[in-house]
Amino acid sequence: MSRATSESGTRLLLIGPPGAGKGTQAARLAELLGVPAVSTGDIFRWNVKNETELGLQAKAFMDAGQYVPDSLTNAIVHDRLQEADAGAGFLLDGYPRTTEQVSELDRLLHSDGTHLDGVVQLVADRDEVVSRLLKRADEQGRSDDTEEVIRHRLALYDEQTAPLIEVYGRRGLLIEIDGLGPVDDVTDRIVAQLVERGILPGDGESAAS
Ligand code: ADP
Repeated sequence: MSRATSESGTRLLLIGPPGAGKGTQAARLAELLGVPAVSTGDIFRWNVKNETELGLQAKAFMDAGQYVPDSLTNAIVHDRLQEADAGAGFLLDGYPRTTEQVSELDRLLHSDGTHLDGVVQLVADRDEVVSRLLKRADEQGRSDDTEEVIRHRLALYDEQTAPLIEVYGRRGLLIEIDGLGPVDDVTDRIVAQLVERGILPGDGESAAS
Protein backbone atom coordinates (compact mmCIF):
# COMPACT_ATOMS: atom_id res chain seq x y z
CA MET A 1 0.00 0.00 0.00
CA SER A 2 1.45 3.34 -0.94
CA ARG A 3 0.60 6.43 0.98
CA ALA A 4 -0.64 9.75 0.06
CA THR A 5 1.10 12.80 1.15
CA SER A 6 4.56 12.74 -0.30
CA GLU A 7 6.93 10.17 -1.62
CA SER A 8 9.11 10.38 1.43
CA GLY A 9 6.22 10.00 3.87
CA THR A 10 5.10 11.93 6.90
CA ARG A 11 7.10 12.58 10.04
CA LEU A 12 5.25 13.94 13.03
CA LEU A 13 5.75 14.33 16.76
CA LEU A 14 3.07 14.29 19.44
CA ILE A 15 3.89 16.36 22.48
CA GLY A 16 1.91 17.06 25.64
CA PRO A 17 1.83 16.29 29.34
CA PRO A 18 1.24 12.80 30.73
CA GLY A 19 -2.51 12.18 30.54
CA ALA A 20 -3.11 14.46 27.55
CA GLY A 21 -4.13 11.49 25.41
CA LYS A 22 -1.04 11.13 23.24
CA GLY A 23 -1.11 7.33 23.04
CA THR A 24 -4.77 7.20 22.02
CA GLN A 25 -4.40 9.86 19.35
CA ALA A 26 -1.07 8.46 18.13
CA ALA A 27 -2.64 5.09 17.29
CA ARG A 28 -5.47 6.75 15.34
CA LEU A 29 -3.27 9.18 13.45
CA ALA A 30 -0.69 6.57 12.57
CA GLU A 31 -3.43 4.49 10.99
CA LEU A 32 -4.73 7.45 8.99
CA LEU A 33 -1.26 8.43 7.86
CA GLY A 34 -0.10 4.89 7.13
CA VAL A 35 3.00 5.24 9.29
CA PRO A 36 4.05 3.43 12.48
CA ALA A 37 3.34 5.05 15.86
CA VAL A 38 6.55 4.91 17.86
CA SER A 39 6.02 5.36 21.60
CA THR A 40 9.14 5.35 23.73
CA GLY A 41 6.96 4.64 26.81
CA ASP A 42 5.53 1.53 25.11
CA ILE A 43 8.98 0.37 24.03
CA PHE A 44 10.26 0.74 27.59
CA ARG A 45 7.19 -1.00 29.08
CA TRP A 46 7.58 -3.92 26.64
CA ASN A 47 11.21 -4.30 27.68
CA VAL A 48 10.37 -4.12 31.38
CA LYS A 49 7.69 -6.76 30.97
CA ASN A 50 10.01 -9.05 29.05
CA GLU A 51 12.86 -8.41 31.47
CA THR A 52 15.36 -7.47 28.80
CA GLU A 53 18.61 -5.75 29.66
CA LEU A 54 17.11 -2.43 28.53
CA GLY A 55 14.01 -3.12 30.64
CA LEU A 56 16.12 -3.77 33.71
CA GLN A 57 17.94 -0.48 33.16
CA ALA A 58 14.79 1.55 32.51
CA LYS A 59 12.50 0.17 35.22
CA ALA A 60 13.80 2.06 38.24
CA PHE A 61 13.63 5.37 36.40
CA MET A 62 10.10 4.73 35.18
CA ASP A 63 8.78 3.57 38.54
CA ALA A 64 10.14 6.74 40.14
CA GLY A 65 8.57 8.94 37.44
CA GLN A 66 12.03 9.97 36.21
CA TYR A 67 13.06 10.21 32.60
CA VAL A 68 15.13 7.33 31.36
CA PRO A 69 18.62 8.76 30.63
CA ASP A 70 19.02 10.37 27.21
CA SER A 71 21.77 7.96 26.19
CA LEU A 72 19.46 4.95 26.54
CA THR A 73 16.41 6.68 25.11
CA ASN A 74 18.26 8.08 22.11
CA ALA A 75 19.71 4.67 21.36
CA ILE A 76 16.32 2.95 21.25
CA VAL A 77 14.83 5.64 19.02
CA HIS A 78 17.83 5.49 16.73
CA ASP A 79 17.37 1.72 16.37
CA ARG A 80 13.60 1.90 15.97
CA LEU A 81 13.75 4.55 13.24
CA GLN A 82 16.22 2.41 11.28
CA GLU A 83 13.61 -0.34 10.91
CA ALA A 84 12.10 -0.72 7.47
CA ASP A 85 8.58 0.40 8.34
CA ALA A 86 9.82 3.78 9.60
CA GLY A 87 11.56 4.53 6.31
CA ALA A 88 8.34 5.94 4.88
CA GLY A 89 7.57 8.10 7.90
CA PHE A 90 6.60 7.81 11.53
CA LEU A 91 4.64 9.35 14.34
CA LEU A 92 6.73 9.74 17.49
CA ASP A 93 4.77 9.73 20.75
CA GLY A 94 6.65 10.78 23.88
CA TYR A 95 9.95 11.59 22.20
CA PRO A 96 11.78 13.95 22.29
CA ARG A 97 11.31 15.07 25.90
CA THR A 98 14.61 16.89 26.53
CA THR A 99 16.67 19.36 24.53
CA GLU A 100 19.35 16.69 24.15
CA GLN A 101 16.76 14.38 22.59
CA VAL A 102 15.75 17.18 20.21
CA SER A 103 19.38 17.46 19.10
CA GLU A 104 19.64 13.72 18.60
CA LEU A 105 16.44 13.61 16.55
CA ASP A 106 17.72 16.53 14.46
CA ARG A 107 20.90 14.57 13.78
CA LEU A 108 18.98 11.41 12.86
CA LEU A 109 16.68 13.23 10.46
CA HIS A 110 19.53 15.18 8.95
CA SER A 111 21.58 12.08 8.29
CA ASP A 112 18.56 10.49 6.59
CA GLY A 113 17.99 13.63 4.51
CA THR A 114 14.49 14.00 5.95
CA HIS A 115 12.70 16.51 8.16
CA LEU A 116 9.70 16.84 10.44
CA ASP A 117 6.39 17.83 8.90
CA GLY A 118 4.81 18.98 12.14
CA VAL A 119 4.65 18.77 15.91
CA VAL A 120 1.17 18.18 17.32
CA GLN A 121 0.85 19.67 20.78
CA LEU A 122 -2.03 18.26 22.83
CA VAL A 123 -3.17 20.84 25.34
CA ALA A 124 -5.04 19.77 28.49
CA ASP A 125 -5.25 21.59 31.79
CA ARG A 126 -3.62 20.22 34.89
CA ASP A 127 -6.77 19.18 36.77
CA GLU A 128 -7.98 17.22 33.76
CA VAL A 129 -4.72 15.33 33.21
CA VAL A 130 -4.39 14.47 36.90
CA SER A 131 -7.93 13.09 37.02
CA ARG A 132 -7.37 11.10 33.81
CA LEU A 133 -4.14 9.62 35.19
CA LEU A 134 -5.76 8.68 38.50
CA LYS A 135 -8.58 7.01 36.60
CA ARG A 136 -6.07 5.11 34.47
CA ALA A 137 -4.29 4.06 37.68
CA ASP A 138 -7.55 2.50 38.85
CA GLU A 139 -8.24 0.80 35.53
CA GLN A 140 -4.80 -0.35 34.41
CA GLY A 141 -2.68 -0.41 37.54
CA ARG A 142 0.37 1.05 35.79
CA SER A 143 3.19 1.14 38.31
CA ASP A 144 3.97 4.81 37.58
CA ASP A 145 0.39 6.06 37.97
CA THR A 146 0.37 6.57 41.75
CA GLU A 147 -0.49 10.08 42.85
CA GLU A 148 2.99 10.91 44.07
CA VAL A 149 4.70 9.64 40.93
CA ILE A 150 2.13 11.40 38.73
CA ARG A 151 2.95 14.68 40.46
CA HIS A 152 6.62 14.11 39.81
CA ARG A 153 6.07 13.24 36.12
CA LEU A 154 4.08 16.44 35.64
CA ALA A 155 6.77 18.55 37.31
CA LEU A 156 9.39 16.95 35.09
CA TYR A 157 7.27 17.65 32.04
CA ASP A 158 7.01 21.33 32.99
CA GLU A 159 10.72 21.59 33.64
CA GLN A 160 12.21 19.54 30.80
CA THR A 161 9.65 18.99 28.06
CA ALA A 162 7.36 22.04 27.98
CA PRO A 163 10.31 24.23 26.81
CA LEU A 164 10.50 22.11 23.63
CA ILE A 165 7.14 23.53 22.56
CA GLU A 166 8.81 26.89 22.14
CA VAL A 167 11.70 25.36 20.22
CA TYR A 168 9.37 23.77 17.67
CA GLY A 169 7.19 26.88 17.66
CA ARG A 170 10.17 28.94 16.52
CA ARG A 171 10.70 26.47 13.71
CA GLY A 172 7.10 27.01 12.57
CA LEU A 173 6.22 23.36 13.13
CA LEU A 174 3.81 23.60 16.05
CA ILE A 175 0.18 22.54 15.65
CA GLU A 176 -1.67 23.38 18.86
CA ILE A 177 -4.70 21.19 19.57
CA ASP A 178 -7.26 21.38 22.37
CA GLY A 179 -7.05 17.92 23.96
CA LEU A 180 -10.25 18.24 26.00
CA GLY A 181 -13.56 16.60 25.15
CA PRO A 182 -14.46 13.32 23.41
CA VAL A 183 -11.59 11.35 21.84
CA ASP A 184 -13.22 11.52 18.38
CA ASP A 185 -13.49 15.30 18.58
CA VAL A 186 -9.79 15.61 19.41
CA THR A 187 -8.90 13.35 16.45
CA ASP A 188 -11.12 15.47 14.17
CA ARG A 189 -9.38 18.64 15.32
CA ILE A 190 -5.97 17.18 14.58
CA VAL A 191 -7.04 15.83 11.19
CA ALA A 192 -8.49 19.22 10.22
CA GLN A 193 -5.17 20.90 11.01
CA LEU A 194 -3.18 18.26 9.13
CA VAL A 195 -5.41 18.71 6.09
CA GLU A 196 -5.03 22.48 6.31
CA ARG A 197 -1.26 22.08 6.23
CA GLY A 198 -1.37 19.59 3.36
CA ILE A 199 -0.02 16.80 5.57
CA LEU A 200 -3.19 14.73 5.03
CA PRO A 201 -5.25 14.86 1.84
CA GLY A 202 -8.59 16.62 2.31
CA ASP A 203 -12.05 15.45 1.25
CA GLY A 204 -12.32 15.05 -2.46
CA GLU A 205 -8.60 14.76 -2.99
CA SER A 206 -7.34 11.39 -4.02
CA ALA A 207 -5.07 9.59 -1.61
CA ALA A 208 -3.29 7.96 -4.55
CA SER A 209 -0.44 9.89 -6.07
P1 ADP B 1 3.54 9.50 30.07
O1 ADP B 1 3.58 10.38 28.84
O2 ADP B 1 2.17 9.35 30.61
O3 ADP B 1 4.56 9.87 31.09
P2 ADP B 1 4.81 7.30 28.65
O4 ADP B 1 4.22 5.96 28.46
O5 ADP B 1 5.02 8.13 27.45
O6 ADP B 1 3.86 8.01 29.69
O7 ADP B 1 6.21 7.17 29.43
C1 ADP B 1 6.33 6.41 30.59
C2 ADP B 1 7.72 6.55 31.17
O8 ADP B 1 8.69 6.07 30.22
C3 ADP B 1 8.18 7.98 31.48
O9 ADP B 1 7.73 8.43 32.74
C4 ADP B 1 9.71 7.81 31.43
O10 ADP B 1 10.20 7.18 32.57
C5 ADP B 1 9.89 6.86 30.26
N1 ADP B 1 10.04 7.58 28.98
C6 ADP B 1 9.20 7.54 27.92
N2 ADP B 1 9.66 8.32 26.92
C7 ADP B 1 10.81 8.90 27.35
C8 ADP B 1 11.73 9.82 26.80
N3 ADP B 1 11.58 10.35 25.57
N4 ADP B 1 12.81 10.18 27.55
C9 ADP B 1 13.00 9.66 28.77
N5 ADP B 1 12.16 8.81 29.36
C10 ADP B 1 11.06 8.41 28.68
